[in-house]
Amino acid sequence: MGMEHVEAYRCIDCGEEYEPEGIMYTCPNHEDPMEGLLDVVYDYDAIAEDFDGKADGDIPDLWKYRPFLPIAEDAEPVTLGEGGTDLIAAPRLSEDIGVEISVKDDSRNPTASFKDRATTVSVTKAKHHDHDVVTCASTGNAAASLAGYAARGGLTARIFVPESAPEGKLAQPLVYGADVIQVQGTYPEAGQLSLEVTEKYGWYNRNAAFNPFQVEGKRTAGLEIAEQTQGDVPDWVVVSVGDGCTIAGVWKGLKEFEKLGYIDETPKMLGVQAEGAPVIHEAFHGEESLDEKAKTLADSIAVAAPANLKKAVNAMEESDGNSVAVSDEEILDGELKLGSTEGLFVEPAAAAIVAGVEKAVEKDIIEEGESAVVVSSGYGLKDLDNAKNAGREPYSLPPDIEEIDAVFGDEE
Ligand SMILES: *Cc1c(COP(=O)(O)O)cnc(C)c1O
Repeated sequence: MGMEHVEAYRCIDCGEEYEPEGIMYTCPNHEDPMEGLLDVVYDYDAIAEDFDGKADGDIPDLWKYRPFLPIAEDAEPVTLGEGGTDLIAAPRLSEDIGVEISVKDDSRNPTASFKDRATTVSVTKAKHHDHDVVTCASTGNAAASLAGYAARGGLTARIFVPESAPEGKLAQPLVYGADVIQVQGTYPEAGQLSLEVTEKYGWYNRNAAFNPFQVEGKRTAGLEIAEQTQGDVPDWVVVSVGDGCTIAGVWKGLKEFEKLGYIDETPKMLGVQAEGAPVIHEAFHGEESLDEKAKTLADSIAVAAPANLKKAVNAMEESDGNSVAVSDEEILDGELKLGSTEGLFVEPAAAAIVAGVEKAVEKDIIEEGESAVVVSSGYGLKDLDNAKNAGREPYSLPPDIEEIDAVFGDEE
């Protein structure tokens, strides 16, 4: 198999450890589907031996971090060139908000979201283990990402979506050739069906609630941020939070780079959720959410029962971080602000980071003059309806230069 750098898969609930052999999803000791997620435990001496001397800031793609990934030596990566994204200074946005902001632009991944970091790892594993079919239940970026990487790897993707899924969101997986199964039911029902086919037919499952390798792939963003900021680690890293897999992954990567001595200290993690879907935010602040709710226009973080709640809360606690929730209106303001100050076009779930930094300043969580890397997770063209609501109205004028004079003439 060739995974000597992986020591074990450890259950985050009961601590039981499993041999890193074959594919395992969750710890069999738990009946509750919200329990039994596995964490991958590594031998960092083995990783350091492979990676030493390579933290030079030159990151062509995330496969630079192959020594960190739970992938067998003889596995061939299914890749579209994901990761290695730019860290862009944002001087106008920084001046506007009063915090020194850089944007880790993960909206520029191959299928236009952060999800590709996880998918490249799980589809590589699926292919290496001779699966022909990969599956997930998703209405959005996870489905698009899985479908794209399945096509790249010559596998079939079967995506389960609820009846209510917006048509626009299905276009991308359909163009990648996926079978999209519209389940005449709710989102949890579609999710349940995707688990049943995994058990019955052995289709490989990408669900973040279930597949431990999603976090492992996502942590490459933490490794990259650490490598790109060596010697000047930011005070904060800001991540929008749905299931909690992204923030947990980024934090794990940052910690690993500190452990290996490439950075001296770790940043604090700021999680940003939508006010309409605040389960992880509330759990961090010690409140228990009684109702499952997910009402926000930022569909990529509209999660009622977050699968990675424990790992996400842990990331904020361990890093001495914090959590804020933002309204839909603040999210749309953030989308316009990021676009108009820095030329970065992001979808609402990504725009939440801008709103989140503003909220954190307002609440004295982030102090004026501190530095923050904000992780932009999805591209703006993913959701044109909301982009239209975020942007300004066009001018509608007759084809007559005098009409232009009337509007803009004063400026000359
Ligand atoms: C999935 C997603 C998130 C949130 O990631 P989680 O792992 O669910 O917390 C944020 N932004 C975008 C664009 C996403 O697709």
